Amino acid sequence: MNSPTPASMPSPSAAAMPDAGHAHWMRLALAEAEQAAAEGEVPVGAVLVRDGQLLARNHNRTRQLADPSAHAEMLALREGAAQLGNHRLGDCTLYVTLEPCAMCSGAVFQARLACVVFGASEPKTGAAGSVLDLFAHPGLNHHTQLVRGVLADECAALLEQFFQQRRRQQAQAIQPLRDDALRTPEACFAPCPAAGHYTSALPELQGLRLHYQYLPESLPQGLPNAQPAQPRTALLLLHPPWHWSAWWAPLLQALPRGAYPVLAPDLVGWGRSDKPKKSPWHDAARHARILLQLLDALGLRQFTLVSLEGAGPSLAPALLQALAQAEPERLAGWLRLLPAQKMSEQKMPAQSAPAAQPPLWPIAPGRMDKRWCVAAHLRRCLPAGTDAALLQQAAAPYPSAAHARHWLAAQLQAPAHLAAPPIALPPQRQWQLALQPAGPAAWPGLPPPQAIDAAHRRWLAHNAAGGACGQ
Ligand SMILES: [Zn+2]
Repeated sequence: MNSPTPASMPSPSAAAMPDAGHAHWMRLALAEAEQAAAEGEVPVGAVLVRDGQLLARNHNRTRQLADPSAHAEMLALREGAAQLGNHRLGDCTLYVTLEPCAMCSGAVFQARLACVVFGASEPKTGAAGSVLDLFAHPGLNHHTQLVRGVLADECAALLEQFFQQRRRQQAQAIQPLRDDALRTPEACFAPCPAAGHYTSALPELQGLRLHYQYLPESLPQGLPNAQPAQPRTALLLLHPPWHWSAWWAPLLQALPRGAYPVLAPDLVGWGRSDKPKKSPWHDAARHARILLQLLDALGLRQFTLVSLEGAGPSLAPALLQALAQAEPERLAGWLRLLPAQKMSEQKMPAQSAPAAQPPLWPIAPGRMDKRWCVAAHLRRCLPAGTDAALLQQAAAPYPSAAHARHWLAAQLQAPAHLAAPPIALPPQRQWQLALQPAGPAAWPGLPPPQAIDAAHRRWLAHNAAGGACGQ
């Protein structure tokens, strides 16, 4: 019988449904819970059913949305009410894998829901019989029927598995998150290259966690005790401010191995590194000290900075200035990758060091709201045709408006030193290399590994022959 039930009346058929019917919908809720686990969320899923039809489905997303009310039930109820254009859901049944908490039970009553079916009991926060039973409270609830324990074992097993895994990870984690920092859940990086290395042991990090990709140089094969052909001058790949180390992933995969170490960090505030909440945290000198300490920790003395220039804002001028001020003898050079087509590799005169750049992001913190999204902003700011996968990866570390705020703070504060005087590097230490666009969809073009490799090898040879490396 599909005649509409008055909003204030319970649907007697829902609770009386045979177990097989409940199990069918609970399996769908379980699939949602599995999705939550895959996203690093506590695995709870919910589906909302009306007249035997699926109306809404969702899963717990409290972490991603930075929203304590983003329980699976709440999201499914919101979605269902929006679809019906009605805050009363009197003829609907909610299936949820875990016993609802007091908040969700309250929302269920507000919606005048006909029936709630749940799987596993929740002894710590359950408000449907475990800690308290709001559904049985005569003063609170005249509307909602309750069915307990549908596929309870499966629902509980999923949770148990999740928390076991999380406990294992926590036991391994020697890098607790500081109270004044944010860390992006690993699940947000699903469309991105796998994580590299983490450290929080550098003094300048003060407990923040830094992520970096690192390819050590290797000795020539078959030659025991062979020494590397050149000193350990590393390539330090600096990401553009609108991306993170994932931008270098194709290059890291394609660079010939062995000749020199390659290091691609996520600056603090970017990518998989922690994001400080204090708004005036970012400072070129501080970032430079962290990079120098990371190089020290890896046993790398000299390095060549590689950056993308002429494609949106750049952090390199500010950082180079700070690096050169801190420990000038370690900076072997600066390789600028340019997306221009006409320019060929050439020595760059010192006086043509880049002038101070105007701010390129037409944004201000006051213009942010809850829907502010890094991906949408990048789409507006970067040229049309920018690779969609590149944008998706660029935005992956900033899943919520709270994360985006720290991204924005970094964008605005880190280039504060851009107006610094030209970099005090001798001309023979500055090179630029044009990138050939790989195609209209790949702007700004991925670095051609062979060209970078060749340029760096020439550079090393030049330094070795001319002794121009030291001061
Ligand atoms: Zn809840």
